[in-house]
Amino acid sequence: MTEDYELCTRDSRQVLLHQIASSHFKDSINLTPYRQFDGDGQRSWSNLMSADWSWKQADTIAVDPTTHGAMFVPIVAGSDKTTVSVATGHQEYHPMYHASLACVFNPLKPGMTTPEVVKCPDGHLRRAVYGLGPYIADYPEQVWLAAIVQGWCPKCDAHPKNLDAGGARQRNHEKTDFLIGAWDPGTLWDDFGIRADIVPFTHGFPRADIHELLSADLLHQVIKGTFKDHIVMWVNEYLMEEHGEAAALAIIADIDHRISAVPAFPGLRRFPDGRDFMQWTGDDSKALMKVCIVYLGAIAGHVPSEMVKCLSAFLDFCYIARRNFITAANLNELEDALARFHLHREIFVGTAGVTGDRISLPRQHSLMHYIRCIRLFGSPNGLCSSITESKHIKAVKEPWRRSSRFKALAQMLLTNSWMDKLAAARQEFRKLGMMDGTTAGYTAMILGGGQPQPRDSAPESDDDEDDDNGPALGPKSLSSIELARIPQRQYPRSAEALAEYLDQPRFPNLLRRFLYNQTHPDADIAADVHIDDYPSIHSRIYVYHSAVARFYAPSDLCGTGGMYRERIRSNPNWRGKFPRYDTVFVETDSELNGMAGLTIGRLLLLFSFKDGDRAYSCALIHWLVPGNKPDPDTGMWVVQPEYEGNGRRTLAIINLDCIARAAHLLPVYGSSFLPEDLHFSDALDVFRAYFVNPYIDHHSHEFLK
Ligand SMILES: [Zn+2]
Repeated sequence: MTEDYELCTRDSRQVLLHQIASSHFKDSINLTPYRQFDGDGQRSWSNLMSADWSWKQADTIAVDPTTHGAMFVPIVAGSDKTTVSVATGHQEYHPMYHASLACVFNPLKPGMTTPEVVKCPDGHLRRAVYGLGPYIADYPEQVWLAAIVQGWCPKCDAHPKNLDAGGARQRNHEKTDFLIGAWDPGTLWDDFGIRADIVPFTHGFPRADIHELLSADLLHQVIKGTFKDHIVMWVNEYLMEEHGEAAALAIIADIDHRISAVPAFPGLRRFPDGRDFMQWTGDDSKALMKVCIVYLGAIAGHVPSEMVKCLSAFLDFCYIARRNFITAANLNELEDALARFHLHREIFVGTAGVTGDRISLPRQHSLMHYIRCIRLFGSPNGLCSSITESKHIKAVKEPWRRSSRFKALAQMLLTNSWMDKLAAARQEFRKLGMMDGTTAGYTAMILGGGQPQPRDSAPESDDDEDDDNGPALGPKSLSSIELARIPQRQYPRSAEALAEYLDQPRFPNLLRRFLYNQTHPDADIAADVHIDDYPSIHSRIYVYHSAVARFYAPSDLCGTGGMYRERIRSNPNWRGKFPRYDTVFVETDSELNGMAGLTIGRLLLLFSFKDGDRAYSCALIHWLVPGNKPDPDTGMWVVQPEYEGNGRRTLAIINLDCIARAAHLLPVYGSSFLPEDLHFSDALDVFRAYFVNPYIDHHSHEFLK
């Protein structure tokens, strides 16, 4: 309490004025709060300006004669403790608290009550009123920020012994002030969880209340907190208690093995076997959420179905909360998922040696505040601490390495400030048509008298490992799928030779039948057409190792038009190591929604050929067919390989256009242990049934409903 600390801060007003004047944001700024409605006239929420808090703030500003007519500019803030670990020991930087925070935001304070004229991204000048907005922080920081006692909730007065009991009331500054006036510090501490010795910094700012402003945080509260620190621990404790240590460790090792054996998928991180998956770290909540579902598939069969249901309900909650666009109906689903999660998590009480007290956890309790937070601030996706954590390397590690390591903080901040300015200058230069392409390209242009090579003109590599998935450029459009640009050269070009090469003797006849069906779309399927009546194929056949699907998926990592791209593979020697034959959703009835109108196909071959003037892009597939309803425990659809009467797998050739996108299948492992040598590249060949993973990305989740 007597030590001196150094506070480094930039002039927050100058930073804001620069940001708000940046023409970079020209097409992506909302100057006024708005309300959005879905097709059925139901309210929905997406970004901060679409939510109720901004709307209410703007109303308050509008009724005050001094601020009437000004635009509202909310300030989103966040803080987190950070540790810089280096070989020489580690240095901890703690986020600042109330007096420091007041000092940081003070330059903006006059503009919170008296409008200030600011330059906007569109070049126009407007009168603006600032306001402190949502604050992103992890639980230990929330405790400090809200001036509460450890173990209590910063947003409501729920008792720490049973945080999720219900009936708790929201905290706010007025109530706290009243209680502080009425009770002694000891009672405040014990009965209300209030620290009388700290005044939250928001107290001194107009229209700001820290209890309201603390926002939902998917990364720390949901993924790292509820999933990793609680559910996974509880499952392990249950296994220990049920089976004894040796047997439990064997099951946990099998769960690890199952996780490492799931089929590959664009963007899915692999967990090598033998490396405890609990060791994963990371700050990308999207990547980490995929781990949760793989875990769900891996524990099914090893734990009681109530535990599987608990995790399934939790995943539903995550995937709804993680959307960019949340409707009133989604909020009802969210409430339902939370209720199911609370119901099923009771199984852990007792069975896992988890007592009622240990289920009362502040990070897990925060899920109870999500619905209100979404109404107030919009989708939690936009306010996740993974946004700030993803800057850790750039903003902390790299500047630390560049510093002299002695009194490094000021040096690091100066580095950051310089990097910011360089980035801003680069943007400005680019806007003026300077700094386009590379120095080498520019030199070549000067020497050759030509045009500089645009940066993105490099030819698309056909088997680029890093090109599995990502944003697709361009405006919102219909879904599409196309073969890779360059065919593979090692394959024979005639149907018969190809059939022999692939050891698929049925291929030529299937191809002829495919062509017959394509050229006779109205022919009666039941009609008995003799094989000799099918057209023969004379053109060359070209084989490809991948295809690219593009579709509209605004909640995933998409381009500005909301389009997302993923590469689907059918490759006997992927990365020079493994066969990889991906599974896809094939549309069988476009009138039906979700799995009812879909079947799963496994891509054995991607190819193209011509018949006269008409070109065909096709796939040779094995079918995997769904049952008539989802699995009751996991909530996932189960598909099984389809067989013909003679015990052979059903084989078909389909038009590439029938493929909607890649499907991720999780083996239904059952209760027996995996064979030691099972590799993920074999996972789609050896199991009798597979779950269709609805959580691999948001598009799948919405698509499969
Ligand atoms: Zn609460």
